Amino acid sequence: MLAFVTDLPLTGGCLCGAVRYEIAEPLVSASYCHCTRCQRRTGTAASAQGRIVPGSLRILQGEELVREWKPEDGFGKCFCAACGGALWSRNPQGEIASVRLGTFDSDPGVRPSYRTYTAYAVSWEPIPDDGTTRYPEAAS
Ligand SMILES: [Zn+2]
Ligand SMILES: [Zn+2]
Repeated sequence: MLAFVTDLPLTGGCLCGAVRYEIAEPLVSASYCHCTRCQRRTGTAASAQGRIVPGSLRILQGEELVREWKPEDGFGKCFCAACGGALWSRNPQGEIASVRLGTFDSDPGVRPSYRTYTAYAVSWEPIPDDGTTRYPEAAS
């Protein structure tokens, strides 16, 4: 796996800046999700996210603004109530699992290496031929 120069803690936040976080451990991996939920959630073709070491993210400010849309099955989708900016997902155990790559202040230190739910990819944009592993459904 390639290594990138990254200073810890990693920091980031939402669009309006009210929610801020830091992550004390290097990210585990990164991926794109092409599922229809991520399309609706982001308004675009796929969502880029980085998996974190459980418990390594600390909310520095704006925790009271973090809202969660929790589907009956699957991970909760968390966002800032003030600006609507996507933040992270929360697993069924309530832990923050993956942070949206677009929220980082600087290089998050990982590169997307796989794509999930490619069976549901949009018709209007081809999946890039970038060498990432493709999973038609969840990653196996
Ligand atoms: Zn915000
Ligand atoms: Zn998704």
